[in-house]
Order: sequence, then structure tokens, then C-alpha cells
Amino acid sequence: MSMELADIHCHLNFYNFNGDRDEVIQRAKVSGVVFVIDSGFDYPSNERSLRISEKYDGYVYSTLGFSPNRIGKSDYRYAIDQILEFSDRIVGVGEVGIDLKKSKAGYEKQKEVFLEFVKLAEEIDKPLVIHARKAEERVFNLIKNRDVTAVFHCYTGSESLLRQIQDAGFYISLSTLVCFADNVEKLARHVSIDNLLLETDSPFLSPVKGRNEPSNVKYAYQKISQIMDINNDEVSNKLIKNAGEVFDIHL
Ligand SMILES: [Zn+2]
Repeated sequence: MSMELADIHCHLNFYNFNGDRDEVIQRAKVSGVVFVIDSGFDYPSNERSLRISEKYDGYVYSTLGFSPNRIGKSDYRYAIDQILEFSDRIVGVGEVGIDLKKSKAGYEKQKEVFLEFVKLAEEIDKPLVIHARKAEERVFNLIKNRDVTAVFHCYTGSESLLRQIQDAGFYISLSTLVCFADNVEKLARHVSIDNLLLETDSPFLSPVKGRNEPSNVKYAYQKISQIMDINNDEVSNKLIKNAGEVFDIHL
């Protein structure tokens, strides 16, 4: 049996997949990817994500969110209503979070919006998919005592915070950056496999030339297997189990 993989965070909803989304999904299947989680980041991308997960039912799953980088450009309250309306069709709330690197909004505003989504995730009992940049610790402190599961998507924070995130029972998702970025490779040496997930964040962060896509998650799996010195099958079984538990996906 070939190795089974999951890409727990990507944006097939981006327009640059419009021309060949079927082929991209076919290549993911051929690579052993058994499911893909597509994340929206504002009302229209959430809408597109829902359409994609409907079309590829049982293979692509949606999380709906509102990126901190969309504050001021789009109204987050539409995304809240949308999440409530489609709560039985989604596997998580996100991406949501705080970005002190890119967002034009200040910390207080971002925190206020983020906490609305934390409350919502608690209400509908779905995991949070967190986008945190230069704000990992602040985000962690805002959620550590809340009644919610959280995935730190594309984690690039410190090693000491990584330990606290794991101790709190939250998850670290490393992206295909682990294949070529020294700081992420270093984090991978300290992460516990019990709290680990892998993602591509497609179309970003490609480990190969050009646009990233879910089939490339295989490179991250191979790299983790090499770094942790655990055989491919064991890594794949463990990570599929983690992803299934977090997002309540049972194949
Ligand atoms: Zn993303």
C-alpha cells in the first residue's frame, strides 16, 4: 500500500487554480493525498471554497474564516453569518488570527475581530485554523484557556512557544517550507509527532519551481520522516490520524 497523505491547509479557492483545478486534484490523488482542506480568508473566498468542497465532496473539505489582512477591506460580520449558515458543512473556522507583519489594522482591532471568531468556533464546536505572524505568543495567550482546539497553521514562531502550544494540546502545522527553510527544519526537530500536521499553503511556499499544489505535501512528509528518523508509513499513519481527529474527518 502506498503512503497516505493529507494536505491540511491550502487555497484551491485562488483564481490561479481556475484553469486546472481538476488536474491539480488528480495529481494530489496520484501522490497519495487522501484529503485536502481548503481554507477561505474572507466572504468571497469562503464562498468559492464551499463550491469546491461541494464539487469534490469527500475529498476537499472547507474551513471558513476571515484573515486579519482583510480587516478594513471587507466586513468580517458577513463571514460570521456565513459560518453560522454553513456550520454543518465545514470542518473548521479559519484562517483567522493576528498578523502584526502585514495587516494594516492595529493590534486592538485585530484582537477584537479574532475573539469574535474564537467565540464562534466554541459555539459551533469546530477547530480554529490560526494565522499568526509576529503575534504567535499573543494569539496563544488569547486562546490557551478557551474551550477550543487550535491549529497554528504554517507555524514559524519560537521553539519555546512551540513547546507551550503542544503542552496546551494544540497543533503545529508545518508547511512545505520545511523542505527548504532552515528555521522551519529546526522547528521540526523539536515538534512532537503527536501534535504535528503538514500542509502546503498552496499556491504559496512551493518547495519546487512555480505554484505550490497539494500533491507537493509529499515532500514535507518525506522531509519529516528523514528529520525524525521514523519510517514513511509510520509518519503517514500518525499524521492522518492527527488530521482526522482535529477536523473530525473519518475516511
Ligand atoms: Zn493560508
